[in-house]
Amino acid sequence: MPIGVIVAVAIVCIIVAVLSSAQRADAVSFAIEQQLIRQAMLDHGIRALHVLESVAATPRSIAKIRGAFDPGWADIRIGEWIESYFHGDAEIIVDAHDRIVYKHFVDPAAADAPDILAGLKPAIDLLRGRLSAMPDNGMPVLLDQNPARPGRSTVLFQRFLNKPAYVAAVAVGSDADLASGNSGAPIVLSVKYVADRLLKNVGEHLQLAHLRNIDDPREVNGDSVVDLTDPQGGVIARFAWMPSHPGASIVASILPFIAVALGGFALLVALVMRHMRRTSEEIEAGERQLRHLALHDPVCGLPNRIYFSERLERAIGEVRAGGPTAAVFYIDLDHFKDVNDTLGHHIGDELILNVTQRLSRIMRGDDLVARLGGDEFAIITACASDSYSLQAIAGRIISAVCAPYAISGHNIIIGASIGIAVIDRRANDAADILRYADMALYRAKNEGRNRACIYDAAMDADLSSRKLLEGDLLQAIKNDDLRAAYQPIVNSAGDTIVGVEALARWTHPVHGEIPPSRFIPIAEHSGLIVELGEWMLRRACLDGRNWPGLTIAVNVSPLQFRRSDFVEVIERILAETDFDANRLELELTESTLLGNLETAELSMLRLKAIGVRFALDDFGTGYSSLLYLRRFPFDKLKIDSSFVRSIEKAPDAAAIVHAVVSLGRGLGMKVTAEGVETAEQHLFLRAAGVHSMQGYRFGRPGTAHDIDHRLAAPEEYRVGSPDQEVALAS
Ligand code: C2E
Ligand code: MG
Ligand code: MG
Repeated sequence: MPIGVIVAVAIVCIIVAVLSSAQRADAVSFAIEQQLIRQAMLDHGIRALHVLESVAATPRSIAKIRGAFDPGWADIRIGEWIESYFHGDAEIIVDAHDRIVYKHFVDPAAADAPDILAGLKPAIDLLRGRLSAMPDNGMPVLLDQNPARPGRSTVLFQRFLNKPAYVAAVAVGSDADLASGNSGAPIVLSVKYVADRLLKNVGEHLQLAHLRNIDDPREVNGDSVVDLTDPQGGVIARFAWMPSHPGASIVASILPFIAVALGGFALLVALVMRHMRRTSEEIEAGERQLRHLALHDPVCGLPNRIYFSERLERAIGEVRAGGPTAAVFYIDLDHFKDVNDTLGHHIGDELILNVTQRLSRIMRGDDLVARLGGDEFAIITACASDSYSLQAIAGRIISAVCAPYAISGHNIIIGASIGIAVIDRRANDAADILRYADMALYRAKNEGRNRACIYDAAMDADLSSRKLLEGDLLQAIKNDDLRAAYQPIVNSAGDTIVGVEALARWTHPVHGEIPPSRFIPIAEHSGLIVELGEWMLRRACLDGRNWPGLTIAVNVSPLQFRRSDFVEVIERILAETDFDANRLELELTESTLLGNLETAELSMLRLKAIGVRFALDDFGTGYSSLLYLRRFPFDKLKIDSSFVRSIEKAPDAAAIVHAVVSLGRGLGMKVTAEGVETAEQHLFLRAAGVHSMQGYRFGRPGTAHDIDHRLAAPEEYRVGSPDQEVALAS
């Protein structure tokens, strides 16, 4: 734009400069032509006077006119002669009393005009010395004539019989006759009209085309015009001619150069513009790319958090404006970090790409799939807001993400937890919706992962109390305020204690006893579980030294297990507490093993090599995948209490427990049943072939003292035979 304006202004300036100089040239030329015409008119007047003087100021004419007037001579030597040699139009002689004594007119009609004398009067009066100033109805041709001493001749350019004409006058007499003035002298006058012929000559001489006399200003036709006026301003003659217009020829001669210059200029501008356009296109493309980079994830190309927030705001606006409801699915991959840490970032990136593809495949085209961070994805989709529809979508997402991945020869399994926040007409801003989804996600993880939770208002209150507890828990670990409870594990008969499971206990100074189901998830979420786990392990080993022959089972959280120094930490604590590794049993859940199977297996093998044993805890609640049982070197399988509870209620549960026990046995593992409360359960499990049992029937979790006491007086804790009890009850 600015360049275009500059170019346009430059072009206009050049054109204006050329046109104004052309105009100026025309104006100068007009002034010169006017001057030339004026001068030519004066020259012709002087010539007319000279012609008249050549005949009227001779001794012969003095004799023939001032003496005895000879009309015949006058006719031949003056009238005829001037007409034929000088094309004079009229010759008149007046006597000393201004009476016409002779007249010769080329146009006979004019000879009788009544105002002849009136036309001659200015010249006569001037010569006679009657005027104090030059006559004001004619233009003096002799510029230095003094009316007080007019001399013997004069010539005026004036109107005569209504036409422009020279009126030349010569007083007749010798020098002596005229020494005292012309008052007594006859005067010879000659009239010559400024007619077409004369003008044609002048025009040719001055190279002025079509120089002519005009009476009517409308005849001008765009030609130049000059008025010759008397001192009063009265027009004597008006001439018109075709102006030479040098400006036009200047323009014509400059034009090609200007055209070439402008052409060059335009070319230059075009080149500059093209260069600029290209540059700006490059910049624009760069900006587009930068914007894309700023709004997309470099690894998988999905929109990033910034873009996601923009779209979320828009989605909220659309729903508020009456559009269909939508929902945010906030997805967190479980164990992605392990894959990254153990197999390297290239495999992690590859995994993210795979997840991206799967998510994109199952979502609709107008849904937004974004990657918000390392292992966090989010989806905005328009959908019904009832929990059935939302869970159906979440189910699709989970099964897509959790199917095994084969990447560069590695077999990888990850989990996914989903928090769902509905966007309805009451939705606040994007930050709130994301917070809701985040809270729901947290709940989903706590409820056992690989599931989805939908946000509800109660979660808000939950979050703030959780935040408070988190701080208190940190304090409790630092202050050694946690305790370890020990629950006995007995043989299948239920009469001998074979081991204990260490369970964390926390008595809050204000809220009292907080169950592990509440504080363990908080510890896992905040990372405190690592310290908590180490504290428990150390405590259990110290206490366990007093109970020779008992296996001490300690729970290990996924976060602990996946730390690269996990094996070293166990070894160090064993060394510090001088505890026999062969009596330590670590309880892992299936979710602990998700992610990178190879590293998990390696850690287990390293610890097994020093005698540590492994139990698969809570079997039956998670994936219950055969893969874990076959692949990992577990020594024990712990059937979850929920299974045990359902034995009496669901007939197929009994069949399943049977199958699980024989599966464990078949794989060479010991099988422990958890949560055994009743004699029926005890009876059934013993019959099914379970090796050991744990549950309130055999003892609740208690202090280390309780275990000491129990070991000292085992008979006090012995339960009755289940057969008898069941028989009695029935
Ligand atoms: P878990 O490892 O499966 O532990 C067994 C849980 O079942 C304990 O709950 C125990 O009190 C309970 N229980 C035992 N017998 C019965 C019974 O007959 N009936 C019923 N209804 N419950 C029974 P607790 O102590 O509340 O612990 C809950 C979970 O918290 C544990 O489940 C474990 O996963 C976790 N946990 C506890 N302490 C720790 C710890 O030090 N580290 C880690 N990582 N997790 C821990
Ligand atoms: Mg356990
Ligand atoms: Mg358990």
